[in-house]
Amino acid sequence: MRLSQYHLATVKEVPADAEIASHQLMLRTGMIRKLAAGLYTWAPLGLRVMRKVEQVVREEMDRAGAIEMLMPTIQPRELWEETTRWQKFGGQLLKIKDRKEQEFCYAPTAEEVVTDFARNELKSYKQLPVNFYQIQTKFRDEIRPRFGVMRAREFVMKDAYSFHLGQDSLGQTYQAMYDAYTRIFSRLGLKFRAVQADTGAIGGNASHEFQVLADAGEDALVFSDGSDYAANIEKAEALAPTTSRPAPAAELERVDTPTQKTIEDVAAFLKVEPSQCVKTILVQGSKGLVALCVRGDHEVNEVKAGKLAEMPGESALATEAEILAVTGTRPGFIGPVGLPAEIPVIVDRSAAVLADFICGGNQDGTHYSGANWERDARVTRVEDIRKVVEGDPSPDGKGSLRMGRGIEVGHVFQLGGKYAEALKATVLDESGKAQVMLMGCYGIGVSRIVAAAIEQCHDEAGILWPEAMAPWRVAVCMINPKGLPEVTQAAETLYAQLQERGIEVVLDDRGLRPGAMFADMELIGIPHRVVVSERGVAAGTLEYRARNAAESRNIDSAELFALLG
Ligand code: ATP
Ligand code: MG
Ligand code: MG
Ligand code: MG
Repeated sequence: MRLSQYHLATVKEVPADAEIASHQLMLRTGMIRKLAAGLYTWAPLGLRVMRKVEQVVREEMDRAGAIEMLMPTIQPRELWEETTRWQKFGGQLLKIKDRKEQEFCYAPTAEEVVTDFARNELKSYKQLPVNFYQIQTKFRDEIRPRFGVMRAREFVMKDAYSFHLGQDSLGQTYQAMYDAYTRIFSRLGLKFRAVQADTGAIGGNASHEFQVLADAGEDALVFSDGSDYAANIEKAEALAPTTSRPAPAAELERVDTPTQKTIEDVAAFLKVEPSQCVKTILVQGSKGLVALCVRGDHEVNEVKAGKLAEMPGESALATEAEILAVTGTRPGFIGPVGLPAEIPVIVDRSAAVLADFICGGNQDGTHYSGANWERDARVTRVEDIRKVVEGDPSPDGKGSLRMGRGIEVGHVFQLGGKYAEALKATVLDESGKAQVMLMGCYGIGVSRIVAAAIEQCHDEAGILWPEAMAPWRVAVCMINPKGLPEVTQAAETLYAQLQERGIEVVLDDRGLRPGAMFADMELIGIPHRVVVSERGVAAGTLEYRARNAAESRNIDSAELFALLG
């Protein structure tokens, strides 16, 4: 690619509304441009990177035996009624009507559609196991789209769905997907951890999230320093009951007497529309009446929120035991689990500290909690929570816990019979009897990975792409203010030689000043930079600098080809 013929649109200024490094850098490099809240255009440079991610994902999915297909993004209401998710999915589901008043939704995921496909296509156990995948746009009407493509409304997901007779077969494919994900994120050059995740109200046997480790991550993670134990905070909470974590008295004293709040109160406090608050319920906690605010922009929580909504009354009074029975979660923990961290949760005294802990934090490391939060919404440093949590023994007893933050880039899930039962997706077994299939589902946030990688790999000058994701591996920068033909010739020759070797190269032939050219190449994160200049041509050398090196050095072209492999 010749930059003179490309659309590179970098900007120096840090965009005002971009809070985290990856969002800022994606805008400054011109990789993405905002169209509307949570909707982004992938400019040519951004798309090049996303295609790299897609390619690695596709290769490893194919290698693991999954089969690519493509399903529509518009899905009919009737299918979603069959699984009862038309109502239960909650506010993230974008509902659309056509000119005949037929109702549809824009796909936030595709369990319904793929299971419908499977029930029509699969007739016999001999066709199983099978694992279908697609790389396709999704839409989720996130309450708070933010951080650019990290939490967008429209985004690109790789979603796979496997079908089985029998748990053993499901377990094997689950493991194959787990291994494929490990290869994908390793090949992409990311620092990541697979953590145990809660299967929540969806049920099923196993679930892991793949988390890119980054301070700006929205998810709180718990690791054991003495063993392989790693879980997201929700799962860690389920394994380690509150009682095992003594809460320091001083911490508890900071929480006031609970007060009742209406949806309107909560909305006013949050500065959002009341419609964005799913529910405020009043709960009889162990130490008195507790108001609980639930906003549903998380699938697991929507299921829980949906179940809560089935409880009688707009401001239902329920006992702790009732809440536990309906949601599988203690009061005080329904709100924060998996939800964005700013959700205020009003908890009883006994739950205060753990709710803080689950609440995690904003990316700036703060979060709200407190009973009388309208007056007293206090901001607690994540560091304070860390003190409470860290050094509790890990649930497997083999180490002690420490906390970290992550960006969820992948999620594997054993769904079991949930969708196939609802949609009556059966095959005939060996004895000719109809059996409901078991399913697994496996998601990867393809577009989110681009942002997550930048979050992990950047410095003051810009992005440091892992080689597998770089838009180009090498930049050839031509410095030729005098327009000398021998310099142009040398740059063109090198450019052609690199291309012949199959190395992705960009030729910076824009005629910019060296400083501006280098700043651009560093900003967009090209791993290898080679300068062709009058001085170098005379000396028969190239000035080479790796993006992660402090200094440049002079090498010849043979050395350059050798180091690029
Ligand atoms: P999150 O907890 O971040 O809301 P999720 O658990 O709702 O994600 P899944 O239903 O597991 O997401 O979807 C599979 C993958 O899709 C996620 O692991 C994530 O990488 C990606 N993803 C989900 N929501 C978004 C979004 N709003 N923007 C970009 N990527 C997303
Ligand atoms: Mg979500
Ligand atoms: Mg999640
Ligand atoms: Mg998930």
